Amino acid sequence: MSNPRKPKTLHLQKTQVKRTPQTQSFRIGWIAIILLFISVAVCIWWFLTPRKTNQITAPSDEKYTFTDSKYAGIKSKFATRRSAKEITVIEYPITNIPGIDKTTSTVIDQADKDFRRSVAIGSSFLEPMTQTIGYQVSYNSDKFLSLTIQIQQDFHGAHPMAATHFWTFNKTSGEIVTLKKLLSDSDKAVEKAAAFARENAKEKLAAHRQPTDIDENITPEIIMNFVVQDKQTISFPFGRGIITPIAGSEPITISLKVGALKDYLQNPLAKAMLDVPEPPKHIAPPPVVVPGSCHKCVALTYDDGPSAYTPELLDILNRYQAKASFFVLGSKVSSQAALLKRMVQSGHDVGNHSWSHPDLSRLGASAIHEQLANTNSAITSATGKTPTLARPPYGATSPTVFAQLQSLGLSSIHWSVDTRDWADRNSQIVCNRAVGNTRPGAIILLHDIHKTSVDATPCIIETLQKQGYRLVSVSSLLGTTTPGQVYCAG
Ligand code: ZN
Repeated sequence: MSNPRKPKTLHLQKTQVKRTPQTQSFRIGWIAIILLFISVAVCIWWFLTPRKTNQITAPSDEKYTFTDSKYAGIKSKFATRRSAKEITVIEYPITNIPGIDKTTSTVIDQADKDFRRSVAIGSSFLEPMTQTIGYQVSYNSDKFLSLTIQIQQDFHGAHPMAATHFWTFNKTSGEIVTLKKLLSDSDKAVEKAAAFARENAKEKLAAHRQPTDIDENITPEIIMNFVVQDKQTISFPFGRGIITPIAGSEPITISLKVGALKDYLQNPLAKAMLDVPEPPKHIAPPPVVVPGSCHKCVALTYDDGPSAYTPELLDILNRYQAKASFFVLGSKVSSQAALLKRMVQSGHDVGNHSWSHPDLSRLGASAIHEQLANTNSAITSATGKTPTLARPPYGATSPTVFAQLQSLGLSSIHWSVDTRDWADRNSQIVCNRAVGNTRPGAIILLHDIHKTSVDATPCIIETLQKQGYRLVSVSSLLGTTTPGQVYCAG
C-alpha cells in the first residue's frame, strides 16, 4: 500500500534539512491530537447550540401554490404541510401593497410559529394536530380594504383555538385605518362607540343565552381595528374568548351602525369609506317662543362674566330691587364661586354661556357637549343649582347645538335688544340703546365685563322703572322653559 503522505514528507525533507524519523512521527502525533481535539469541540458546539424553533419543521415539507382569490386584486398564497404530527393549510392574502402584506403575514407567521412549537412538543393523541389559517375580505374599494384573518388550531384539547385579526387598510399608504382616525380623531367618540359596542354585544349574548357582564372587556383599545361590513355598518369579528372569556364561548361579531355615529363621521376619510348621513341641516330650528304673561316685564342679561365689575353690578341691582340674568363662562366660574352663589341667593339667574366662548355651530357634537356639560357642572358645584338656561356664544346655533342643549336640559335664550355695549364703551349710549328699543317682554343684551355697561345699569333701570317696567330674571319672564327650545322675547 502506498502512503499518500510520502511525497509531501519527501518534499519537506528536501526543503527542511536534517529531520530524523523520530521528530517526524512526533510531529504527526501532535497533528492527530489537534485534529481530534477540534472534532470533539465541533461536536460539542453542534449539540449545545440551541436549534431555532422554526427549523423544527423542515422547510422542505412545506408546499406553496399561488391562485387568484375571489377578491379583485388579491392573490392567495397557500402553504401546506402534512405529516403524521400535523396538517397545516395556510392561505395568505397577497395584495402586493407592502404595508398590508407585511401586517397580515407577520400575524400569520407568528400564529404558525406558535403552532409549530406545540407540534414539536408533541401530543399524546394519535391524530395529527391541525391548523387552518385563511382570510375573508368584507370590503374592497379603490381606496380601502377590510380584511379578517381567521386562525383555527386544533390541538385535540376541549375546544379548538379560534382567533381572528382584522383591519381596514388604506390601500394607498398600506396603513391601518383606526377607529379613532375614522371618528374625527376623537377619544370621546371612541368612548361612545365602545358604549354602542357593549350594547350590541349584550344583545347578541343574550340571544345566545350567554352571560352579559362584559362591559369591561369592551374597551376603546380592542375596538381600535374594525372592518367595513357594508357602507352602513362597521364590525368587529372577534374570535373565541375575547368578549366572553368563558371556555366554549362562541366567536362573536359586534356591529355598529354608521347612522348612530354620524356626528363623528363628518370628515373626508369617513365619507370616502362609508355612506355617512349628512347632518340634518334641512331641519328648521325650533320655533322661537315669545312669552307674554309677565305684564310690562323686561329682563336684563349680562354675558361673558363674571368679572371684577360684577360685585358692583350686584350692589346696583340690589339697590333698585331689580333682578337680572348672568350667562357666565365655565372657565371663569371656579375662581368666582362665591360671587355666583351671591347671584343665586339674590334671586338672579345664572345661565350657561359655554366654557370658552367658541362658535358652537362650528363644532362637532362631542365638542359642543364638552363646552356645555363642563360649564353646567362648574355652575352646579358653585351654586348648588343646575342651570336650565343657556346662551350660545354669538347666538350661533345649529341642529347639533339644539340637540346637545336639549340633552343637557338647557333652553337657548337669545335677545331682543342688543345694546352693542362692546362696540360703544359709552354708558350714555348703552343706556339710550337699551331704553329706546325696549318693549314689554324684551330681553336686553349687555356684558358685565365692561365697566361702562355696569355704569349704564342705574340709568337703564331708573328710566325703565319710571316707565312702569319691572326688571325681572329670564326665568321669571319666561316661566318654565323647554330644553332645546329657542326663546327670544319682546
Ligand atoms: Zn358672549
